Amino acid sequence: MSGTIVKAINIHKKFAGREVLRGVDLEVRNGEVLCILGPSGSGKSTLLRCLNHLEALDDGVVWIDGQIIGYELRDGTLKELPARKVRRQQREIGMVFQHFNLFPHMTALENIIEGPVTVRREPRASAIARAEKLLASVGLAERRDAYPAQLSGGQKQRVAIARALAMSPKVMLFDEPTSALDPELVGEVLDVMRALAASGTTMIVVTHEIGFAREVADRVAIMVDGEIREMGPPADVLANPTDARVRSFLARVL
Ligand code: ADP
Ligand code: MG
Repeated sequence: MSGTIVKAINIHKKFAGREVLRGVDLEVRNGEVLCILGPSGSGKSTLLRCLNHLEALDDGVVWIDGQIIGYELRDGTLKELPARKVRRQQREIGMVFQHFNLFPHMTALENIIEGPVTVRREPRASAIARAEKLLASVGLAERRDAYPAQLSGGQKQRVAIARALAMSPKVMLFDEPTSALDPELVGEVLDVMRALAASGTTMIVVTHEIGFAREVADRVAIMVDGEIREMGPPADVLANPTDARVRSFLARVL
C-alpha cells in the first residue's frame, strides 16, 4: 500500500440552495478500502457522484491519481473541463450502482467489452479474452451469452463489477451495491468485492453491510448531515464513536 489515489478537499454541494455536502475531506491510498456508512440522506451517494464528476462541485477539489477531476487550473482558478475531457477522466474511475445499470440489449460479455472496444478502441479479440477472464473471476464464465433479464440480481451485479473492471480503473466506487438484492444473493456479491479488496484494488464502498465494513475495510467513514463525522479503522470507529449522532446511528444498525 503506497501513494494517494483519491484526495478530496473541502467538497461542498448544494441542491436548490440546500447544502448536502458541507466540506468533506477524504484521502484514500493505493490498495486501500474505505467503507462509507451513514443514515439515508446524509450525502453518501452525492459524495461518490462528486468524486467522479457526475455532479459538479460548488467548492473544493478532487484529485484521482494526482489529476484534478472535472476542472483544470487556468489563470489561478478552477474552470470546468469540456464534457469530452471529463468523460476521458471518468473512464478511469469504476462505478457500480445499486441498480446495476447494465445495457439490457447486450449479453454479459457484450456489456463488458463495450467500454474497451467502443471507448478505448481495443481490438475486439483481446477485449473478449479479457472479458472472459473477468467473467471467470466473478464466477460467471458459464453465463457469458446471457442477457441481463436472464440473470439474477446477484449475477447482474457481478457482471456490472466485471464491466467496471474491464476499463482498468484506478479506483472502484460502489454505491450500495447489495441494497437492491434479495438477501440470499448479497453474499455472492460481497464475496466478489472481498476478493477484489484482497487483490489490492482501491475501493470506496458506500454500504449498509456493517459486517463487510468491519471485516474488509481498512478505514470506515461515517457521514451525518453532509459531513464525515468519524473516520478511522473499523474497530475504533464502530466500537468507540465519539460523535453523538454517529453513536445513535450505529446503535440503530449494529
Ligand atoms: P444518501 O446516499 O446518503 O442517502 P444522497 O447523497 O442521495 O444521500 O442525498 C443527500 C441529500 O441530497 C438528500 O436530501 C437528497 O434528497 C438530496 N439530493 C440528492 N440528489 C439530489 C438532486 N439531484 N437534486 C436535489 N436533491 C438531491
Ligand atoms: Mg445513496
